[in-house]
Amino acid sequence: MELLKERIRKDGVVKPGNILKVDSFLNHQIDIPLLQKIGEEFKSRFSDVPVTRILTIEASGIAIACIAAQYFNVPVVFAKKSQSINLDGESYTAKIPSFTHKKVYDVILSRKYLLPEDHILIIDDFLANGCALKGLIEIVRQSGAVLEGAGIVIEKGFQSGGKEIRSMGVRVESLAIIESMSPDSLVFR
Ligand code: 5GP
Repeated sequence: MELLKERIRKDGVVKPGNILKVDSFLNHQIDIPLLQKIGEEFKSRFSDVPVTRILTIEASGIAIACIAAQYFNVPVVFAKKSQSINLDGESYTAKIPSFTHKKVYDVILSRKYLLPEDHILIIDDFLANGCALKGLIEIVRQSGAVLEGAGIVIEKGFQSGGKEIRSMGVRVESLAIIESMSPDSLVFR
């Protein structure tokens, strides 16, 4: 998606530790017209499959998923990061190591909001090592719903997540894939 790549080139900042900061339009301040274009693009890429619900993870995925959901006309549900897993059988749970915060989150999602008859599209902001996406895939697996694919805004193609998850047979559509990055260069695939 050329508009997104241009924006990353203009406003993205590469930080030590392979972190790309996009706080001015995606992760802190949010550019709504850009998110609308992103939502349209996800809809066009996944127009061939039935989607009944969009799944994401708090916090950064929520805004993206909500705007995308307007084009699919479906509800959004997000996995919550929780301090303690309540094993009451009413929630799906997964452990997700965080790339940016260097800790492991327990995430939970109520069984009420993900049903075996659902067709799920997962949406998230970044794909790096794939831990967040694998956790969400695990939650979909627990629910018995059909996973139609994952829509990612920015994939860091030089990290292993995209390759691993595609090799699991999951359809991953990333709107911008970064081949390599350093403080003074950003190369897209
Ligand atoms: P993964 O689990 O694939 O290693 O990392 C994905 C999650 O970590 C995303 O949900 C995102 O919040 C965060 N993340 C990973 N890499 C980056 C990055 O370069 N920049 C930002 N802003 N977030 C990242």
